[in-house]
Amino acid sequence: MSISKDQLKERFKKENYEVNLFKEKGFIRKECPHCKHHFWTLIPDQDNCGDTRCSGGYKFIDKKGKNMDFDQTIKSLTDFFVKNGHTAIKDYPVVSRWRADMDFTIASIADFQPWVLEGVVDPPANPLVVPQMCIRTGGEFSDIDNIGKTARHLTSFVMFGQHSFNSKTLTDGYWMDRCLDLNFQYLTGELGLKPEEISYVESIWAGGGNFGPNLEAMAYGIEVVNNVFIAYGFDNGKVKNLDMQVIDVGWGLDRVSWFSQGTPSIYEAIFPKAINYLQKENDYKPDHKLLVEYNILAGLLAVEEVKDLREERRQMAKKLGMTYDEMLKVLGPQEAIYAIADHARTLSMTIADGAIPSNVGGGYNLRVLLRRIEALRSLYGLQFSIEKLFDLQINHLSVSYPRVKEHRDDIFKIVDIELKRYEETKKSGRRIVDKLIQQKNKFDFKTLLDLYQNNGINPLMVKELAKENKLDVEVPDDFYIKSEEYLAQQKAKQKIAKDELVLELKEEYITQALFYEDTYKTKFEAKVESVLEDKYLVLDKTLFYPTGGGQIHDIGTISADGKKFHVTDVFKKGTTIIHKLEEKCDLKKGQSVKGEIDGKRRMDIMRHHTAVHVVNTAAKEILGDHVWQAGADKTEHKARLDITHYNSVKAEELQRIEYLANQVVFENRSISKTDLDRDEAERNYGFQIYQGGVVPGKT
Ligand SMILES: [Zn+2]
Ligand SMILES: [Zn+2]
Repeated sequence: MSISKDQLKERFKKENYEVNLFKEKGFIRKECPHCKHHFWTLIPDQDNCGDTRCSGGYKFIDKKGKNMDFDQTIKSLTDFFVKNGHTAIKDYPVVSRWRADMDFTIASIADFQPWVLEGVVDPPANPLVVPQMCIRTGGEFSDIDNIGKTARHLTSFVMFGQHSFNSKTLTDGYWMDRCLDLNFQYLTGELGLKPEEISYVESIWAGGGNFGPNLEAMAYGIEVVNNVFIAYGFDNGKVKNLDMQVIDVGWGLDRVSWFSQGTPSIYEAIFPKAINYLQKENDYKPDHKLLVEYNILAGLLAVEEVKDLREERRQMAKKLGMTYDEMLKVLGPQEAIYAIADHARTLSMTIADGAIPSNVGGGYNLRVLLRRIEALRSLYGLQFSIEKLFDLQINHLSVSYPRVKEHRDDIFKIVDIELKRYEETKKSGRRIVDKLIQQKNKFDFKTLLDLYQNNGINPLMVKELAKENKLDVEVPDDFYIKSEEYLAQQKAKQKIAKDELVLELKEEYITQALFYEDTYKTKFEAKVESVLEDKYLVLDKTLFYPTGGGQIHDIGTISADGKKFHVTDVFKKGTTIIHKLEEKCDLKKGQSVKGEIDGKRRMDIMRHHTAVHVVNTAAKEILGDHVWQAGADKTEHKARLDITHYNSVKAEELQRIEYLANQVVFENRSISKTDLDRDEAERNYGFQIYQGGVVPGKT
């Protein structure tokens, strides 16, 4: 079920937004002539909604506010909300181990998805606040291109989550009226804004099939915070109230701090020491007035939306009274300094939480960040010590996130190994680029993408290497956004023809999973729910384990009325377990069947499964805490375990892991299985319980 934002807009009227605060204080509702959004203001002749572009740009830069640095802002928000009945909970790691669908925590609400929002698990407190560090690299965000260019984008940022959960059983929360009261109190009290300086813009939030109204608080030409109310969903195409209605206010903490300080960009506000260090080492100090003007113009750039970023930036240069090349020459180093400091901060945070630069997924984004640091350094001829830079960022983060400094050694070790690897890539990259230059290659987007994807040579490195040959390669300003788009298109074109993907279920069943109840049983009785395409059988319950969690499915037989069917594949779609049969099947709904799995094969698989856990634990013991089960493959013949480690495992280390694992096996320990509440399990064993995959449900 999908519905367009315009259709949704029809549904939302004045009443959906008119909170008590507006009535009490006398806010009036107007329509913005620029963006056509409705907004609420105390000024009768206010002629725009207050959004950055509608109001003509940032007005808070160089304006003195409450001057709260990063840590003071965390404290200010925490104290305010605790004073107002919220519980401050500990933040989650930035590496989102509890989510199978993402590498990094991208929003504070992600801490509570899916189980709290689905009503399966109670929230740790209600209402609550959490200073959640979030990462945005790659994927749909592709913010890497924007860092340093827009004055406001960061690859890691704190989303200070203010959440209230409301359902039949959760009654301690609050809804829109109180949310906006608190919002107004914080903005006028702690941030010191005058009531008439604030406007609230009506909008609609939609995500994951749910939607609801939201009110964006604007002041001095910037959206300070967005108040989101997750209220509705769909049921068979009809709009319904969600059983769990959630307040999702993500205070952009870095932005609030920037707003209170009025520095030229967000970077000077959040990590001034790293910026100062990089400027000082290079004797670089841009003219303050120029920098402010430049960042105000940059603030108007929506890198994701503009068609031709290069052209937009040419226009920027014109407004500054210089050519594009002059602008790059004068302010390019500043952009590079912003980006370098940002990247070092994100790498420190993610490595501290257990991520490792690699060739896949989120790890690849981290590799790109480190390589961009080096490429920007040589492109602009910047001088600095990588140790000193990381040291400054580790210290900055450790005030509010002390775990970062506990991992100082890991961070340095991993960065060092990655830099050596980068040098090697550069060597081979030089050969490839030289050859392309000889072939008179034009280095268009496709060539750059090819080099980036297949040779690990990012476009900045190409530019750098080409420069050695006195050739200037033009890198699109939005290269990473373009490449994500391109890859997504390619992916959509590939048609995957696998049984489980092609088969369309007309109805969803909840198959009872008998294999969790008694793992040694091999025989069972069940009733037929449905037969699809004469060969896919759905039962009300089953002992057949469907492929999942790195473990292969069971095989065996199902018989009824003297007929025997061989089960060749078992897979899961949602809550339905589907048996693929070798023979044509004419069983009817409600018919009784007897099933038997291949017990010996299952036993071998189970042994291999346990072995994977033993080896994984041994690897952690020998190689260190950061070792993480990245993937596993458990079949009757063998078990394979992929672990994350920043270096290749040495023969000697492998021997020690093997020795330790065998020791455990020979001790003949008994294996016990206990079901714990998810909440309790996370508390007692930490996020390592998600080694090997995310377990659905409450226990
Ligand atoms: Zn507007
Ligand atoms: Zn397991």
